[in-house]
Amino acid sequence: MATLIRGKDVAEKVLAEAKAEVDAMLAEGVLPCLAVILVGDDPASRVYVNKKKEKCAELGIRSLEYKLPAETSQEELLALIDTLNHDASVHGILCQLPLPGHLDEQVTVRAVAREKDVDGFTCLISSGADDLMPCTPSGVMEMLKFAGISPRGKKCCVIGRSNIVGKPMAMLLLAADGTVTVCHSKTENLPAVTREADILIAAVGKPRFVTADMVGEGAVVIDVGVNRGADGKLVGDVDFAAVEPKASFITPVPGGVGPMTIAMLMKNTVCAAKAQSRI
Ligand code: NAP
Repeated sequence: MATLIRGKDVAEKVLAEAKAEVDAMLAEGVLPCLAVILVGDDPASRVYVNKKKEKCAELGIRSLEYKLPAETSQEELLALIDTLNHDASVHGILCQLPLPGHLDEQVTVRAVAREKDVDGFTCLISSGADDLMPCTPSGVMEMLKFAGISPRGKKCCVIGRSNIVGKPMAMLLLAADGTVTVCHSKTENLPAVTREADILIAAVGKPRFVTADMVGEGAVVIDVGVNRGADGKLVGDVDFAAVEPKASFITPVPGGVGPMTIAMLMKNTVCAAKAQSRI
């Protein structure tokens, strides 16, 4: 039986630490502030933005919401980001993705000042400790730490190479001295590669993609996937029932990596506020 790594437990710890930092900053007269930009009316994005606002309120972080119409031009969006970049009372800026098709996501996220980029999209992981790390991959690192698992010297395999999850995940594991392999849709004989991993991270976006034959005996299996099954229920990228007996540690879906992303966003906002106020 594998040990479950529950994101809720780890997220609670991260949020409690963030709350203590917020309290300390408030005592120094600094009110951490996160600005969230939502372009258009995508229902899922609306839900995510509301959750972020609620979490800010719980922690005592001020949140500002900029709700822009779907037809907002790139220039208008960049002008708002520029204003927020220059507003000293705003410590974190987040532009909710996806953006409507006529807007360039790369241009938009790169416009956010590096020290305010709480999503960590502009982070160069190799450049040093000052960077705000991308939330989902850094949440995975926090879960490994919580479970007492060090990537150091371990064979780590990431399935997925997206800019938001797979690539930064691989870089963080490398920075933690893992020996890292990154797999993708063109990888040949994928099961032979993934079976070698001591730590296997699935970030594919396909329900129950990772089957038991793809996992080595005793591997640590982290499931980043969030997919909707035919019955409407959330399902991960890992076939949990089949893989769990082979794994030493495994994350469930839901209740695994999911809660970590927002917790790390709060942590990043607090870190950004601290760095910008130099307390
Ligand atoms: P994405 O941009 O669609 O990337 C998926 C990656 O999987 C791509 O690199 C793709 O390879 C690879 N892939 C697809 N089919 C494959 C196959 N047959 N064999 C090997 N690799 C394959 O997705 P993402 O944004 O990284 O997200 C991945 C999953 O994580 C999704 O389920 C998403 O919902 C979830 N997610 C969860 C959180 C959270 O908070 N827990 C946050 C973000 C994302 P190519 O590059 O070759 O196309």
